[in-house]
Parts: sequence; structure tokens; C-alpha cells
Amino acid sequence: MEVNETIARMPKAELHLHLEGTITPDTLWAIAQRNHVSLPVGSLAELKALYAFEDFDKFLHLWLAMCRCLRSDADYALMVDAFVDDCRRQNIRYVEAHFTPYNHERFGFGARRALAIVSRRIEAAEREGGPVIRLITDIPSESVPESGPFTVQLLEEEAHPLIVAIGLGGPEEGFPRRLVEEYFARARAAGYPVVAHAGETAGAAHVREAVEHLKARRIQHGVRAAEDPSLLALLAARDICCDVCLTSNTFLTVYRDLATHPLPKMLAAGVPVTLSTDDPPFFGTDLDREYERAHAEVGLPLATLWQLNLNGLRYGLAETPLRRGLMKEFRIAGAELGLEPAGA
Ligand SMILES: [Zn+2]
Repeated sequence: MEVNETIARMPKAELHLHLEGTITPDTLWAIAQRNHVSLPVGSLAELKALYAFEDFDKFLHLWLAMCRCLRSDADYALMVDAFVDDCRRQNIRYVEAHFTPYNHERFGFGARRALAIVSRRIEAAEREGGPVIRLITDIPSESVPESGPFTVQLLEEEAHPLIVAIGLGGPEEGFPRRLVEEYFARARAAGYPVVAHAGETAGAAHVREAVEHLKARRIQHGVRAAEDPSLLALLAARDICCDVCLTSNTFLTVYRDLATHPLPKMLAAGVPVTLSTDDPPFFGTDLDREYERAHAEVGLPLATLWQLNLNGLRYGLAETPLRRGLMKEFRIAGAELGLEPAGA
């Protein structure tokens, strides 16, 4: 079997993706037209061109314009349903999706209302055979004085069954990770594990801050940790997983060419890693393609890719019986694909 065919048939887990970042230009255009919301472009063709990024500021600009377009329950349902279809197309069985309630509050729809409709569609998908999707509620770094208390209060007040962690998103440059230290401490006290974006557009020091000050269980990206060998050793020693997004990195980080990407260095240092897409349509990718590129351009053998995939269940934050059940399912499928010793 060709490598790409094996990748396509593998049941997959993904831990670093933004639900709002799964909206394709076609869907965004349709939603904006239906809601009479103006976008910073005049046509669908121009919008598609905007989805090619060179820097984080442009990315954030379109991202926020997109959040403003979501105006009705149907818009949120469409976002989730389209994502679920895409998971099924790629045999993605488990996802932890970042979601930013504060932005939906800020733009007038309402965070709780957004969470309610998103949850209903996620639960319907799970009842209908999957995928299993869980949520990480992000504090966006560019608005911490408002979004920090808002997000943590929401977590303290809600007993939301799908939320598995608090996260830190938004830009890195100029926003030290410890900005959210107080809010993350409250979230941990309320029983929520912490994950944080760090070491993507800023350097290794951010990753260290996320580990030492925020007590992050996982790092989103974390690739710049490779600049500091002692930090790689710390990540390995504490078994902190980095959720790496190769194609996203080629758009927004210093690693414009995968031949120079530090993923092999991270693996050699014993850092647990998963592969993810971040915001797939924004970077013209999907999860199958991330695995294909890791094989063809980074040079990872299929056996390594399979272990990175299983890390998505090992380091996922959903309830243990659920992840153990999926692990069993993955191992059976892996055996059929020749990725596991039979009977393992
Ligand atoms: Zn991300």
C-alpha cells in the first residue's frame, strides 16, 4: 500500500486546531452574504486570495473579521457540521478544538449561546458515529484584561461536559505568556488542565514561561523550544507534549522550509509530539497532508508517524475511558494497516 493511502486510512487524532479556523472561504463568503456583513474584500476570489498569509497580523485581522460574520445559530451549526464532514472524510476520530468564547461575546452573539449551539452539533456528531470532539476554551492574548476574567469566570460557573482545558491563543510577540498566570491558576483550581500557545512566533523563553508559570500540560507549537537544548530536556523530563503544525509554521514562523524544521530535533530530544493543522483552510492543508509532508519533506518513517498519531490519544485531555476506548479502536485499525504487531 502506498504511504499516502495508509495515511488516509489511519484513524487519526488531532489536538491543535481552532474551530473558528476551520471555516473555508466559500463558507465565510456565504455566511457574510446571508448576514449582510461586509468583509474587507469585494469578491469571493479576493477573499480566497486573502487566505494566503505571510504574517500573523494579517492572519489575526481576517480571523477577527470572520468572527464578526457569525450572527445566527445556523452559522455556528454550519461551522461545526462542515468541520465534522471534513473529519469523516479524513477518518479523524478524536479532536481537541480550540474555541474562543470571549470573541463571540465581544462581537455580540454571546459566548454561552455560541457554546450551546456548538456543543449541540458536536454531541449530535458523536451520537451519529463520531468524531469525538472536545473543546479547549482560549483566552486570546491581545485582550487579556477583558478576556482573561471573562473566560475563567465562565469556566468556574459552567459544568460544561465538552470543555477539557483552558488555552492561551492570540499573538505572541509583545504578549508574555505570564500575562494570564492569575487566570490560569484559577482555572487549574477549578479543575481544568492548561495548554498554551508558545514558541511559534516568539522564542524559547515563551515556552519556558508556559511550562513554569502556567503549568501547561501541552504546548501548542513549541517548535522554537529547539533553540534551547535545556528547554527540550525539560519538556522531555516533564513529558509535556508539543502539538506541532508543520504547514502553519511555514507561513507564520521562521521555518519557511520543512527541510529546516526542528521536528526531528524535538523527537531526538525525547519530546512527545503530535501533528495538527491549526487552521486548515487558512494554510491550504488538512491532517492527511500534514502527515504526508512529515513523511516526504521531514523524512519521518510511517512507524514514527503512527506513534505521533497515538500521542493524540495519550496526551489528549478527555476522560480516560473514552481515550482508552479509542486507543483500542486505533490499535485494531493499525494492526490491519500493518502499523501494529498483530494482537498488540
Ligand atoms: Zn493554534
